[in-house]
Amino acid sequence: MTILESISHKQCIALEDQYGARNYKPLDVVLSRGEGIWVWDVQGKKYLDMLSAYSAVNQGHCHPKIVAALVEQARKLALVSRAFRHDQLGLFYKELCELTHSHMVLPMNSGAEAVESVIKAVRKWGYREKGVPDGKAEIIVCENNFHGRTITIVGFSSEQQYRDGYAPFTPGFKIIPYGDADALQDAITENTVGFLVEPIQGEGGIIIPPDGFLARAREICDRNNVVLITDEIQSGLGRTGKLLAEEHDGVEADLTLIGKALSGGLYPVSAVLSNRKVLGVFQPGDHGSTYGGNPLACAVARTALRVLVEEGMIENAAKLGPYFMDQLRTIDSPHIKDIRGRGLMIGVELHNSAGGARRFCEALQDKGLLCKETHEHVIRFAPPLVITKDEIDWAMNAISDVLRME
Ligand SMILES: *Cc1c(COP(=O)(O)O)cnc(C)c1O
Repeated sequence: MTILESISHKQCIALEDQYGARNYKPLDVVLSRGEGIWVWDVQGKKYLDMLSAYSAVNQGHCHPKIVAALVEQARKLALVSRAFRHDQLGLFYKELCELTHSHMVLPMNSGAEAVESVIKAVRKWGYREKGVPDGKAEIIVCENNFHGRTITIVGFSSEQQYRDGYAPFTPGFKIIPYGDADALQDAITENTVGFLVEPIQGEGGIIIPPDGFLARAREICDRNNVVLITDEIQSGLGRTGKLLAEEHDGVEADLTLIGKALSGGLYPVSAVLSNRKVLGVFQPGDHGSTYGGNPLACAVARTALRVLVEEGMIENAAKLGPYFMDQLRTIDSPHIKDIRGRGLMIGVELHNSAGGARRFCEALQDKGLLCKETHEHVIRFAPPLVITKDEIDWAMNAISDVLRME
């Protein structure tokens, strides 16, 4: 094997394309360094990261305290598997539970694994506690959802491309329109065990449900002994200006999924947060993960949570999100159809006549802003939560120019 010491922009792209599976079509920017809201490409050009790795780097790139926690723990102890106990796990549980008012935690790695785990837990709860006949448990999900990419999860996606060619799928799921509480009520049967919902649909195009939807869902779930599961993997951990987006609706789910920013982008860490009732169904051996809850993950996540709170990032999102949206609303562009968001989770939807969001993202890249279209017509603006007002003003110049182009 030959090792290339230093590698050019073109070579990086050529190698990726030659050897990698083609399941992504990234912008042709090759990044090699990050700090806070900024990233640099191999040619030294600096960009403001408006995607934040889909909200995994809410705390900013390479946050020095999280990096220090990672390095320090990596030098001490990284992985023991759950066959043995270690000195980081209990502290991680306690701090996470106190912060989120949860009773119990199941640590996993990726978001999709947290979703898979919650499906197992809620089905088992249905059979053991609710008395659903074995094999009959139903889980209700929403149209336009995004919960990850495993076979079971894409099986209940309504996005054709996520499913195409992957059948057969796991049975036991029903899809209702997002934001429709009456449809939830109608879809519930005696075999319904859970309702899985994103408080805001991120990948779906920054879709915010009607006011009161989550509160009504809470009430319907309570009345029917159905477990309410919020997927806060993207909307949680400060992104919307609250620790969890469900707080905007005054709702506490029975089970909440977090991931992404749980490590501030330093390591894959996810978790199922629960009241005891549901996660309590797991007995030793029922579920597991070699890396789930490892010392390195725990040390990183503890610090990622601490800086999120101590450095006022949640308040910053609450304060600057509305400011950013107000500024966007001043742009006079025939392409803009809708501007919506909560905190620093913002979507600008373009008219079909604009010719798709991609070309605008490419123009923004030229001006030093990295954005990604979600679906075809929405530009997402979701910078790290450490962004300042001046930096938003700087970005607004570029955004305003680009959105006013032909
Ligand atoms: C990203 C995401 C997931 C999946 O997380 P992975 O770590 O990519 O598996 C699940 N749900 C939501 C809402 C997400 O945004």
